[in-house]
Amino acid sequence: MTTASFPSSAAAATGSGSTRCYNFGAGPSTLPEEVLRQIQADIWDFKGSGIGILELSHRGKEYDAVVAEVDRDVRAVGNIPADYDVLFMTGGATSQNYIVPANLLPPGATADHLVTGHWAQGSFDDAKQYVSCHNPGATIHAAYHGGGDKFAHLPGEAEISYSKNPTYVHMTSNNTLYGTQWLDAQGRTRLPKIPAGAFLVSDGCSDFFWDELDVSRFGLIYGGAQKNMGTAGTTFVIARKDLVARANRNIPRMLQYGLFAREESRPNTPPVFAIYTVGLMVKWVRSQGGLKAVGQRNRQKAGMIYSSLDRHAAFYKPHAAKADRSMMNITFRCAAGPAMDDAFVAEAKLAGLDVLKGHRMTGGMRASTYNAMPVEGCKALADFIDDFAKRKG
Ligand code: PMP
Repeated sequence: MTTASFPSSAAAATGSGSTRCYNFGAGPSTLPEEVLRQIQADIWDFKGSGIGILELSHRGKEYDAVVAEVDRDVRAVGNIPADYDVLFMTGGATSQNYIVPANLLPPGATADHLVTGHWAQGSFDDAKQYVSCHNPGATIHAAYHGGGDKFAHLPGEAEISYSKNPTYVHMTSNNTLYGTQWLDAQGRTRLPKIPAGAFLVSDGCSDFFWDELDVSRFGLIYGGAQKNMGTAGTTFVIARKDLVARANRNIPRMLQYGLFAREESRPNTPPVFAIYTVGLMVKWVRSQGGLKAVGQRNRQKAGMIYSSLDRHAAFYKPHAAKADRSMMNITFRCAAGPAMDDAFVAEAKLAGLDVLKGHRMTGGMRASTYNAMPVEGCKALADFIDDFAKRKG
């Protein structure tokens, strides 16, 4: 792979004839040009096999090599300790809402959830539904619920009420819809303190691999690959081996972490293309200097956009509390109301800045600035934010 910058994306902003725009979509989201070019080649002929990646058997030697490489590279680039399994499942992050308790919540036990946004609410609701059917003595406890301020901030210690003896605490490290992320004052991932004896489960769907992370502080991290890790179709699960080893086997096979660990994430036909794309994305992160460099760049990218919003504080209303602003999803609206939001989205599109409309539940705008969004795209959006406010304010 080359390490060229993004000529085709940049061309949209400079009007040099490319049809590609800066895609600020929340997922599936933009991929690096180098990755897309590699995929183009591999769709036709994967590594000289005469067979394209979309046609490749999941039992052949080419895919054996993909499996081994993805595992090796995710571990190396993500600094994932040897006592963790790296699994690729299907059903999206959403299916983990019941797969986690199915595997890891013993009969009659309690799981505490920090309900910090839309997807966190879904995790709570699905877990509750699962246990009510399949583990009726168990409890799913909301140790925090952020609905009161429309999920605009994340809780401090004093706002969390854990149950007596939870097996695990479920958190969502980045709240994609509302644009909040668990960060400390330096803009590094912060984790809630959890009760002794519990382990932490994190929905890392929209920020895993955004920066360096101390994986050893988690029992399990999961997410759909379609943001920082590649494209839709596979769900990564990074889980402590001792938890996988003692996970419940009295559930359907396709839900069993242990089975995926034993069978290299291919107990059935896996999403070959999606897993292969994770491999390319991880190699790309390494080519960019690794997670430390990528994390610094992500902070810089988001910082440019927030600075423009803050320069026009009477015109724009960012949704998230300042201390909890996400480096991945920047949510804001125009103070003048939805008609001005619509004008913003429409004019931005004409300027080559697309998929900025906020989620249907939140309205306003959302700019997703995952790893593959180039600095130039964020600079172009920051300039557009300035210009729009000057013209319309
Ligand atoms: N959790 C979070 C934080 C998300 O952002 C999303 C998707 N946007 C999901 C869960 C659901 O993921 P999936 O569509 O892969 O089920």
